[in-house]
Amino acid sequence: ETRFNKTRFIPPDAIFALTAEYLQDPFPRKVNLGQGTYRDGEGNPWVLPSVNRARETLSAQGLNHEYLPILGLQAFREATAKVVLGSELLPSRRLSLSGTGALHLAGLLLRVCQSPLPKIYIPEPTWSNHHQVFSSLGFSCESFKYYDHETRDLDIESYYSTLRNAEPKSIVILHACAHNPTGCDPTKEQWREIAQLMKARQLFPLFDAAYLGFNSGNYDEDAFAIRLFVGEMKMEAGICISFAKNMGLYGERVGCFMLATDTKEAAVNTQSMLEMLQRSEVSNPPAFGAKIASQVMGMKDLKEMWFADMVTMSSRIRSMRKALYEHLISFGAPGSWDHLIRQSGMFGFLGLSPEIVLKLKDDYHVYMAGNSRISIAGLNPGNVEYVARSITQCLK
Ligand code: PLP
Repeated sequence: ETRFNKTRFIPPDAIFALTAEYLQDPFPRKVNLGQGTYRDGEGNPWVLPSVNRARETLSAQGLNHEYLPILGLQAFREATAKVVLGSELLPSRRLSLSGTGALHLAGLLLRVCQSPLPKIYIPEPTWSNHHQVFSSLGFSCESFKYYDHETRDLDIESYYSTLRNAEPKSIVILHACAHNPTGCDPTKEQWREIAQLMKARQLFPLFDAAYLGFNSGNYDEDAFAIRLFVGEMKMEAGICISFAKNMGLYGERVGCFMLATDTKEAAVNTQSMLEMLQRSEVSNPPAFGAKIASQVMGMKDLKEMWFADMVTMSSRIRSMRKALYEHLISFGAPGSWDHLIRQSGMFGFLGLSPEIVLKLKDDYHVYMAGNSRISIAGLNPGNVEYVARSITQCLK
């Protein structure tokens, strides 16, 4: 007799399972376009030169492995706030953890701040973990249509109408840029309208910012929406920052939850609550990656190198996006592919049926998420033509 007889089996996370399947595949020309991790022109993981330099500096200084404070490394938190907001815009308080951890921590805090629990509006489609993070905390999550599969573009009217009719004081998840998986973001004018509608209805913006600087190669450009809401519109907002992609620190779990509040008192109080919540969850965040990120952002020459590294990554992705598009056109792949070059960021949202996605994996060893999202970073001059030809053959 087990006390666990009420447990049920939860299928493995689809994207991690896909990576495992890919690794098992002995086919020499296999291509992994699943997980969103940057690869260089040869298909290898890339340690950013700025990160490499910071690592060397830290080693030379003599690294220890002491605990960080519960709130994380102060220099890291301050440097993050400065780079994200463009200046020290206070009152805001912040706390370090990873991107996913930042979202979870935001949820923990929001859960104790409002009763009854506010609803969370989540764009559809979205990053596969959003619903899980917030529903596991007991929130009721409501999807709203973000993307129109017919036009293969943002459905801005659906977006506006959701905000106009949302329950006041609800929370809305906003992808700060490079919307995962669609690669479609609102224009600056549309962001202004979104901010105004949200302010009018007292909706709380919770930014998921995993691609700042990685999307366009220009950090300020990518941070536009956050700065608009927090700086210009003076709205209260939560901002969940990840350094996984833009610093290539995936496995180091470097991130930060920042909260902009209307009053100094609320900032002090929420920080103290976050400290307590963090203590009971993980006690204190990982140190190594935070020390690297702090060096990179804190030293002028390293920061410049980092900005150049983001240009390197985003430009390579852009050129692969274009190459895939051009090969698809030249092979005469059925249908229109313009959406591919309208999209931006790490992902291409192809618009293929699940059957085609499966066929690409089984017959051509080309791996992608079930919704036909591809990580463009997995393409390189050595495989892009093969991928385009495989897609074309599957569709013909
Ligand atoms: N949010 C979005 C939209 C993402 O795409 C990702 C990573 O894929 C994350 C958050 C999570 O980032 P992290 O690895 O820092 O937890």
